[in-house]
Amino acid sequence: MTAPDAAHVDDLVVGWRRAIHREPELGFAEHKTSALVERELARAGIPSWRVAQTGVVGLLEGGKPGKTLLLRADMDALPVPERSGEPFASIVPGVMHACGHDAHTAMLLGAAVWLAPRRAEITGNIKFVFQPAEEGPGGAKPMIEAGVLLHPHVDAAVMIHVLPILPSGVIGWRAGPMQASADDFTIAVIGRGGHAASPQLGVDTIPVAAELVSSLQRIASREVDPLESVVLSIGTIQGGYRRNVIADRTEIGGTVRCFSHELRASMPERLRRIAGGIASAHGASCEVSYEWGYPPVVNDPRLTRLVAGIAERTPELGGVVELPAPRMGAEDFAYFAQAVPGCMLRLGVAPPGQDDPAMLHSPQFRLDEAALRSGVRTFCELALRLPQEL
Ligand SMILES: [Zn+2]
Ligand SMILES: [Zn+2]
Repeated sequence: MTAPDAAHVDDLVVGWRRAIHREPELGFAEHKTSALVERELARAGIPSWRVAQTGVVGLLEGGKPGKTLLLRADMDALPVPERSGEPFASIVPGVMHACGHDAHTAMLLGAAVWLAPRRAEITGNIKFVFQPAEEGPGGAKPMIEAGVLLHPHVDAAVMIHVLPILPSGVIGWRAGPMQASADDFTIAVIGRGGHAASPQLGVDTIPVAAELVSSLQRIASREVDPLESVVLSIGTIQGGYRRNVIADRTEIGGTVRCFSHELRASMPERLRRIAGGIASAHGASCEVSYEWGYPPVVNDPRLTRLVAGIAERTPELGGVVELPAPRMGAEDFAYFAQAVPGCMLRLGVAPPGQDDPAMLHSPQFRLDEAALRSGVRTFCELALRLPQEL
């Protein structure tokens, strides 16, 4: 088989991206997407296997033995109705690739197809991981539990996520915190109901909940080091039956986001202490439930510098920039980056001529397909150079 040139691969990538975009699939239902990935890996002569239902792993063994680099793409779409105006817009009602995972899958597949006939130049192994359900309930954790980091043992993991606010084709990197954790909580305040005209005979949960809403903000403003970041947002509050009845139960629901593993671990105890103290001060009780979501993505500093160095030496990229700050969104690549040195890169996909592009998860989200070749080139150069440097 003759080795495909870069321009041919770029055309394939755009074609795959459009095909995946037209028929977006939600988490753990990526059947057509997985089948496309398996078909193209097989055509390139790369053995692959299924992990975690719809996840696909391809393994390319290099010409010389060495370390193993995992390259990861996510495949799932969002329950968002598409209003991008693209000719290849979603034909599935209410489902859209609004986070660019169609592009991630196509770029990694492009890199695999380009690298396959050049395997003699690779020292070590490249594991291509096509992951389901990043948008929830999460595919990274079940893939790791199913052994995706073993046989051969993975030494480092790298992913690329598109970002509309970066210029098209630019690779953005950052050492240390990159994406926040995302955990949820519910606090139920329990009192005693009664007639609203006789509050002294009941225990009213509404004012207790109101006090709790403002007191919880003091975790961020008074308890946590001001140089650390933590967001605690209350998204729901529900209590009461009608205007003249004392509410015997009020529930507050919210989310907590931060970058530090230690701070994150301390948050349930802080919530329980404040909620318990305020409830008992007013003769009420409370139940706090805390639901762990994705951990923060913390890019390994040494790996990230190696990756950024390779990107800087890669021709044809739209530029390489150090990102000034992490983002508060969550990303389940965090599980890979907790288990092995990990690096999440960003790829600018701002459509040309647009000052205010639609953000990720927006029904209007569009990306500049010319940027995809930067992602493919970056994956390819990392595969050729990074394993020797690990
Ligand atoms: Zn997303
Ligand atoms: Zn995403």
